[in-house]
Order: sequence, then structure tokens, then C-alpha cells
Amino acid sequence: MGGNRELKKATEAYWGGKLKVENLVETGKTLRAAHWKIQKDAGASIIASNDFSFYDHVLDHIQLFSAVPERYKKYNLSQIDELFAMGRGRQRPATETTQAVDVPALEMVKWFDSNYHYVRPTLQENQTFTLAADPKPVREFLEAKEQGIITRPVLVGPVSFLHLGKPDRGQSVEPISLLNNLLPAYIELLKKLKAAGADTVQIDEPVLVLDLPQSTKDAFKPAYAALAAAGAAIPAITLATYFGDVVHNIDIFPSIASVSAIHVDLVRNPEQLDTVIGALAPGQILSAGVVDGRNIWKTNYQKAIATIQKAVQALGADRVVVATSSSLLHTPHTLASEKKLPAEVIDWFAFASEKAKEVAIIAKAVTDGPESVRAELDANTASMKSRATSARTNDPAVKERQSKITPEQYNRLSPFKTRITGQQAHLNLPLFPTTTIGSFPQTKEIRVARQKFGKGEITAEQYEEFIKKEIQLVVKEQEDLGLDVLVHGEPERNDMVQYFGEHLTGYVFTNFGWVQSYGSRCVRPPIVVGDISRPLPITVKESKYATTLTKKPMKGMLTGPITCLRWSFPRDDVHQSVQAEQLALALRDEVIDLEAAGIHIIQVDEPALREGLPLRAGTEREAYIKWAVKAFRLSTAGVQDNTQIHSHFCYSEFQDFFHAIAALDADVLSIENSKSDAKLLRVFEDAAYPRHIGPGVYDIHSPRIPPQQEIHERIEELLKWFKPEQLWINPDCGLKTRQWPETRASLSNMIGATKEFRAKY
Ligand code: GLN
Ligand code: ZN
Repeated sequence: MGGNRELKKATEAYWGGKLKVENLVETGKTLRAAHWKIQKDAGASIIASNDFSFYDHVLDHIQLFSAVPERYKKYNLSQIDELFAMGRGRQRPATETTQAVDVPALEMVKWFDSNYHYVRPTLQENQTFTLAADPKPVREFLEAKEQGIITRPVLVGPVSFLHLGKPDRGQSVEPISLLNNLLPAYIELLKKLKAAGADTVQIDEPVLVLDLPQSTKDAFKPAYAALAAAGAAIPAITLATYFGDVVHNIDIFPSIASVSAIHVDLVRNPEQLDTVIGALAPGQILSAGVVDGRNIWKTNYQKAIATIQKAVQALGADRVVVATSSSLLHTPHTLASEKKLPAEVIDWFAFASEKAKEVAIIAKAVTDGPESVRAELDANTASMKSRATSARTNDPAVKERQSKITPEQYNRLSPFKTRITGQQAHLNLPLFPTTTIGSFPQTKEIRVARQKFGKGEITAEQYEEFIKKEIQLVVKEQEDLGLDVLVHGEPERNDMVQYFGEHLTGYVFTNFGWVQSYGSRCVRPPIVVGDISRPLPITVKESKYATTLTKKPMKGMLTGPITCLRWSFPRDDVHQSVQAEQLALALRDEVIDLEAAGIHIIQVDEPALREGLPLRAGTEREAYIKWAVKAFRLSTAGVQDNTQIHSHFCYSEFQDFFHAIAALDADVLSIENSKSDAKLLRVFEDAAYPRHIGPGVYDIHSPRIPPQQEIHERIEELLKWFKPEQLWINPDCGLKTRQWPETRASLSNMIGATKEFRAKY
């Protein structure tokens, strides 16, 4: 994104018609050059290219291999507009010279267990693949070469690309069965890279850390045999895995024996080292990921060097590469921009640019001996010690409260069946109640007011007045639209996690620590450095004020303990379950305070609950589900029966997760579903899920306005899986990234469609 989110700013300006395409392209070029230089200056000997993307790197590959669904091609958009159309949908009325465009985005899903989202390859029966003219990886390789830097292009591997894809709507193709169609285009690309001067490429096959179906496992052999057959006509391959271990798939290693190097994540799974070393083919190089690509803590040099030395002992120095555990996409740009963090704390962190240096220092320590980097090693030891002994990290009062949690604190007073009757009598809602997920557009005025307040240009009272006006406006809009359960709109929140972090102890915040979430959307995760507690109520004032503006029920809005944890950079010195429990206790107090303030519907968002699920089935996953569910229940179970607890999730793949959802004991769930196959909801029907549920009826990640008829059809589909009295009608997620005109129009269509059903039932 750039140290200052230059890419976000340029992309959004282009979308808004305020920047020419040439300028957007130029911004990309400038950023790539800057990022190559950072790696070079840090002393990294292998520098990546093709890791830049205008939207998402998987989406780039959809275009690269011409797997663009027909519905995007028929408008003859420019390449970059086609890319954005797939990423975020496109809707334009006809003009005198152009036809109308109306096409929704492709499905976007979480990238493994991260908060990054990729666009899913969406494939057809008999899908063909051809290499795009002027392929991006070749173009960007040559661009770097012109600047005097020979890079290693990064590609999504053929097996992972297909495995992460899905059949298009109404199709039943098994993506992995398309391998033979994909391979010729893939090999053609590799040949072009070689001809351009690339001696090595990195091919990412992260699916190797997952539990794979046999068909995917079997695909590695023909895929890598075909690449091997191309011999010296293609670059040497480093096959990269990350975010997990490959031990359970070690039987695939013989199929990838022809690649020159294999990269594994030794931060997440250091214990896989021996097995991987034992499984390498003769001469095969180990790329050892010892610098954390997913968190912001300084690498413990002593530990990392020991790991590398162990590998060197087994393989020889020429067969070991020092690397980050994964790409640095998930870490902020540089610590150099952070002027406000306490000096004590800043010394504990390493962001992307600093991590590049860490890699070089570790390699030098092993190659040239520790004395060659003595000053760096000593400073690192001092920093590790400072963190372990700091008063910031330990709060005895928090630990004391954790030790006194009782079993009753995890349980509501009565079971759901009893509660819901009381809640319905109390709330008196119509059939198919309509609501939203919490936030309304975060307008420019809101951002400006927040900035002014931050800089001290307006007083706290003035800012509070401003927020009150915003709440008035949002409540009025909702009343005019005819929504049933209202929200206050979250105008006071910069971000759903940061806002809570700012009101809790144990957190620190960056000024520029942005990471990409999807497309141009960035988040700035707060950092958990110590024990967490809630000194004062966080949301009660705004929610209570909102209740005074309407007779309709007002929903209180909180971010749940797991999401607060997952969307922060967590501590790595205590288990995440301990941090989640501390957050749960803080939020429990907030839930009880909201109830006391007269708010009888409280939504505790857990969009990150599923994302945190360990990637593989088994004991680790079951343990996670246990502590995550306990944290949610601890935060919500302190209320009376008549108080309705809602929760919200941003995903819809429940197959491996359903029991966890049911165990939360929430009264009403809202889930993201508008872009997925409604069949995914079958699990609810199969389990005779008795609670109330609002599967999102339209996609909020796109500015496109869903026609009423489209929403009507969606509701009709939902009624195949749910009883009418169970169903809530709501968008997919919060509306903060949208503008007001499309928000009004979309919600109005949603309410229109709902009324058609109320008339029928
Ligand atoms: N209440 C939050 C909002 O509406 C939920 C966002 C989310 O699930 N990501 O913005
Ligand atoms: Zn959501």
C-alpha cells in the first residue's frame, strides 16, 4: 500500500473519477521501485517481484490466465477496469456513447487464517486458460531489471490457484480437475520469465498446510512433473508454504522433488524443521522462515540463529536460505514513521522494513559469525529482556480477577426457548424484522471532525456535539427508511477494534501501522502489549443517547473478545486464550452496563471467530473452539433473559464450524452470505438450528445497488432453509465503507422486498 497508503489514495481517487489511469499506473510503478529498494538496502539478497497488486494477487492470476467469467468480458472494459469490476462490482448507467454496466463482484474470502481477503477464482465447466498478452509478472520483472534489480517473481502455484477456486454459480466443475488445462499457460509464463532473465521464481503452494482432499494431493505430481519436464527453459523454482506445517502432507514431497528449494514457516511451526529436512530431495535447498510475517514483534535473534545453524549443520550453508515466515503483506510498513509510541515499547517491534533487515542480520551472523553483527545481537538481547521484565506487561489485578471466574458466569439464566418468548413479547417486532449490522457511512465530515479533535483543533465538547448530530441523522434516516431495529451508526469509531483498544489498558497504537484487508481497504491493528482491563464504560454514552431519539428498539454494538484479539497484533508471550479471557471480562462489564442503560438488544460482533480457526482439524482446532466460545459466553452471559444477544460473522462456511456457532448461545445471528451459495446454509437446516438468523441479503463490499427483485429472490432462497419466524433481513455487514446515496437506495430495496414477504405470510 505504501508507507503512507499511497496506493489506497490513488486507487480510490481513480474510482471517484478524480485521477487519470496513467497517474494510477505511475503510483504503482513508484511504489514498486520504492519497495524493491527497501529490500535491497536492507541487505536482502533475494528480492521479490509480482507481489504488488492493484487489488489482490489471486485476482491478478485470474486475469493472467484469462479465467475471467464472461459477464465481465462482455463490456470490453480496459484491463484495469475489468480487474476492479471483478474485485468490487461495477454499475454505471448508459451514456450516449457507452452501454449500461451492471455486474456484481466475484466472491471474496479470507486468505487462510488472516484478515486479508482474496478474490476466489470462479471457474466454468471446461474452463480454458490462456496466458494474457504482456503478462504482469514478466512486465514487472523487466521493470525491476531496468532499475538494476534482478528479482524473483512470485506466483500463486497451479495447485493452490485451483484448490482455492470454486465453480461458478450453476456449475459443478471440480476446480482441481482443470489442472491439465492450466499447465500449458503456466509453463508458457515460466518460459517467458526465463527468457526475460529470471533465473528463479517463487511458486506459492500454501494449500500444502491444509488438510487436503485426495484429488488435490494427487495434483502435485502431474503439476510438478510437467514443470520439471520444461527443464532449463524455465527458472529454478522455490516452492513456498506458510501459515502452518507441512508434516501431514510430507508424502507429497517426492512429487515436488524437482523444485530447487522449499520454503516453510518455522515461526508458526518450528517443530517441523527435522521432518522437512529429512524429506528434502538431494541438493534441495531449505528456505527457512524464521522472521514472523504475521506479527510485529522483534525476532529473537538467538532463537532464529540457532534454528538456522541447525539447518546448516544438516544441509550445509549453501542449502539454507534465511527468510520471513510469509510475505510481509500482513505487517505494517515501517517503524520509522512512528513518532508517538513510547520509546520503551517501540524497541520491542519490527515492522516490514525492519524485518527485511532482520533477515539479513540473521544470515550474516550465521555466515560471517556473531562478531560480524555483535552490536545488533547485543541490542536484540537487551530488547528481549526489557520486554520480559517491563511493568507494562503485567497487571496483578487482572490476573486476580481471571482466577476468580465462576462456571455460572458462562451461562445465561434460562435456555434459548424460554428467553426468546420473553424477548419477543418485550420487543414486539414484525415478521422478518429488518436491521443493519451497525455502522453507517463514515463520511468525509466524520473523518475530518475526528482528525480535528485528534489535533486539538476542536474541543471534546464540540466533538461530542458533532457525534450527537451524526447519531441524530443516522436515526432519522433509519426511521424514514422504515427499519425495525435501529443502530446508532458507530460514527465515533475509527475502527471496530481500534476504538475498543483505545478504551482499554494493555494496548498501544500506531499512527501509520496500516495493513491491507481487501482492495483499497486498510486496517490499523492495535497492539496488545500487556494485561487488558476496562477502566470506564466505552459505548454506553452514545448508545444511550441514541435510545432517546426514537421509539424503535436500539441495538447496542460491541466488538467481541476474539475479534478484538484477532484484529489486533496479539502478544506472543502469553497464550491467546489468556488475552481473550481478559478481553471477555472487560466486555462483560460493558454488556451489563449497556443493559442497565436500557438497551435490550446487544450485538457482539465476532467476524474474526471463524478466521481464527486453526487451519487443520484436530486437537488444536478443538482447543481453539473451546476457549473462543468460552470467551464469547463470558462476555455476553451476564444479562437478563429479556435482553437479546445478537452476534455477527463475516463468512458463511460453517461446515467445519457449526457446533461452535451453536455453542455461543446467541439469540440472533447475522452472517455474511450474499455472495456465497445459499446451499452453505443447509447445515442450519440439518441441525434444526432453532435460533434466529439474518443471512445477509446483499453485498456491502461493493457500491452496486442490488435491485429489489434480486433481494426478493435471495429471501425466497433463504426460506428454503429457515422458518419464516426465524428469519431477520439485513445486509451482509456494516455500511461504513459505503456512501449515503447507495446505502439509502440499497436499504430501501431491502425493505421493499421484505414487505412483499410480510404480505405473503
Ligand atoms: N458492527 C460492525 C459494523 O457494522 C461490524 C463490522 C464487521 O463485521 N466487520 O461496522
Ligand atoms: Zn461483517
